[in-house]
Amino acid sequence: MKIITLEEHYADKRIIDQTAKYGCQTGLRDLPEKILNAYNSMRFTGDNLTDVDTVRFDFMREQKVDMQVLSYTNPVPDSVPPEEAVRICKEANDILSEIVRKYPDRFAAFATLPMGSPVEAAKELERCVKDLHFVGALITGTWRGKFYDDPMFFPIFEKAAELDVPISWHPEFPNAKIQTHYYFSDSYSLITGMEFATAGLGWHLDIGLHMARMVLSGIFDKLPNLKFISGHWGEGIPSMLDRMDQILRPKTTGLKKKISEYYHENIYFTPSGILSKDQLEYMVKVFGAEHIIWALDYPYVPFDSCSTDFLLNSDLTEQEKELIAHVNAEKLLHLK
Ligand code: CA
Repeated sequence: MKIITLEEHYADKRIIDQTAKYGCQTGLRDLPEKILNAYNSMRFTGDNLTDVDTVRFDFMREQKVDMQVLSYTNPVPDSVPPEEAVRICKEANDILSEIVRKYPDRFAAFATLPMGSPVEAAKELERCVKDLHFVGALITGTWRGKFYDDPMFFPIFEKAAELDVPISWHPEFPNAKIQTHYYFSDSYSLITGMEFATAGLGWHLDIGLHMARMVLSGIFDKLPNLKFISGHWGEGIPSMLDRMDQILRPKTTGLKKKISEYYHENIYFTPSGILSKDQLEYMVKVFGAEHIIWALDYPYVPFDSCSTDFLLNSDLTEQEKELIAHVNAEKLLHLK
């Protein structure tokens, strides 16, 4: 069975060298120095991110992956002052396109965008899709604490809908105010790295909430063709959709549809390497296999717990497996 995965990260030393001096995203600058230093030291430069020809291909062979959709890892090239971001994102996309050009059957790519300059970001998305044959964009966290439901970002989503390419949403370190309010505790200390405030829970809730905000902003009423991809099985939101429908009715929200309808129609979900049988079956039951796409979150899920066999050996029907393994990705990303 053909396997396409789409939360598979990449880094390039030429970009890291230019962005490293800025540290983490600006929204984190208010964190205590000890925590900020811990974050700033987390610039990933390992071979598994930068080396394609040996390390990455070995992994793909082992995991039976035919094609990875590549995206830049956190902190993305956009994590620099806006006046530099336009140029650096362009360079980063050009670098990524070299890999896609070299191995067109093995890799596709999501653009990285200078979100603080929305008109430029929309132009860059168009260039990436039309000239470099990218298949969408991956955006992370907020832009300096600003959520993307702010009308200033609309041109980016409008362009994605026009080009008919999806936007993949990736977590990023929650900003300092959120971290200090929700994740500091006098009883334990779990916020200096990949712990409570980030990959252990916090950044998932952060990006899940962000996507709910996008729905509430009416973005899908304005752009019915717009598609989002939500990782980690929807970042906690799917289990709350019944409640949201119960309280946030169209007469309250002013939206054309129930909240859950947008999740069923405009949003696609990936496991991002969280291999839970119950979760897989729940998501297929609720949203249908046609809204689930395989993703291993290379290289962040420990390799010994990565498993394409998990999908292939699951109790789903062969047709459902085909949809999740490659058919949905081919359709959504126009890979054929
Ligand atoms: Ca990831």
